[in-house]
Amino acid sequence: MGLCARGTLDATITADYSVLMPFVDLPLSAVLQRAVAQAGYTDPTPIQLQAIPHVLAGRDLVALAQTGTGKTAAFALPILERLHTQARPQKRPIRALVLSPTRELAAQIDEGFRVYGAGSGVTSFVIFGGVGEEPQRQQLRRGMDVLVATPGRLLAFMSERIVDLRELQVFVLDEADRMLDMGFIHDVKRVIAALPAARQTLLFSATMPNDVEELARRFMKAPVRVAVTPPATTVEKIAQSLFFVEQGHKRGLLLHLLKDPQVRRALLFTRTKHGANRVAEVLEKAGVAAAAIHGNKSQGARERALAGFKQGTVRVLVATDIAARGIDVDDVTHVIQLDLPEVPEQYVHRIGRTARAGAAGVAWALCAPDERPLLKDIERTIRLRIDVVADHPFAGAAPPPREAEPPRHGRGEQRRFRPRRR
Ligand code: AMP
Repeated sequence: MGLCARGTLDATITADYSVLMPFVDLPLSAVLQRAVAQAGYTDPTPIQLQAIPHVLAGRDLVALAQTGTGKTAAFALPILERLHTQARPQKRPIRALVLSPTRELAAQIDEGFRVYGAGSGVTSFVIFGGVGEEPQRQQLRRGMDVLVATPGRLLAFMSERIVDLRELQVFVLDEADRMLDMGFIHDVKRVIAALPAARQTLLFSATMPNDVEELARRFMKAPVRVAVTPPATTVEKIAQSLFFVEQGHKRGLLLHLLKDPQVRRALLFTRTKHGANRVAEVLEKAGVAAAAIHGNKSQGARERALAGFKQGTVRVLVATDIAARGIDVDDVTHVIQLDLPEVPEQYVHRIGRTARAGAAGVAWALCAPDERPLLKDIERTIRLRIDVVADHPFAGAAPPPREAEPPRHGRGEQRRFRPRRR
């Protein structure tokens, strides 16, 4: 079937969505097959289909895939397969380590190992900063098969010699691009330097900037490369609109938009943490159940906000890009961008948080006059001109004319946009 071409060293294999294959055809043990069935999955996602056979074969892997593609199971299942079929050492040394940039993502990955490994006897544990160290220390002393960690807390425990990685077999670097964006390059290199040379390394990243390539070249052995982009249909189901508005009227417009009862669960993006806090306050004052989630919030506050959002008690979750990445909440009815992102690809990541699991979604973006250059970059990247909503109470004078430039493709092609590869 050509998808899992063994021996394809450096060629990037792109997903072929026409090939379907049930999980039962993958060489995974009965216990893992059962766990996957219990999770309600019948067919592997493209990244799972491509990655799992290579990882099972012991190969190093570079996977271009973002959150939402099923990448957690793509590495967790073959790792679980490997670990649960080995004789279990008495004193549970860490045999697999997953490094993740954010606490939320780390917690989700740990949860993934528990779900996909249910009944396998393989244990996992997660450590991250912002919470007490002692319970984590105690658990580390007891031992676990899989450790999921954020870099700072892991290094702190490594320097205390509480974390022993000498028996490590598999190392996963998740969201490598985000990790480096967040300034963790030196931390990542320090962790890698402490790992046994004879190991399997798996690197997952949504994009492949040069510094991620360099990591792959330096620390991996002839990795197989696979790539998927989110299926175009996901994005096709998103109704995107644009609102031109003066910066000072953005909050007024936001409150107006939130009068729409269709907005049941909205993820709202701001550019800064400070902006996220302020908007959440404004919304709360106006009687809209809202919470902000970003790196300056305590772990408890983030967990409460996220739990409220999942349960529906928080109607609007205000987030920065970094905090939102990796948050896995289905049924987000609206993605609202109060500020346009600086990096055009981020627009696609943001709107992809709605219309998940086959649902339809709505994406609204507010654009102030000084954000026009950002809008131009975004439209060039997505090869689509976003529909403008002109009749809103804060439209003011007629919006300035839009240049004819961005959509370079015919209408027929417009809806098939994908993040631009770098
Ligand atoms: P991830 O990219 O690992 O964060 O996964 C995104 C979402 O897809 C999660 O909600 C998973 O539970 C779900 N998922 C992962 N694999 C599958 C699958 N094979 N079939 C259906 N849903 C899946």
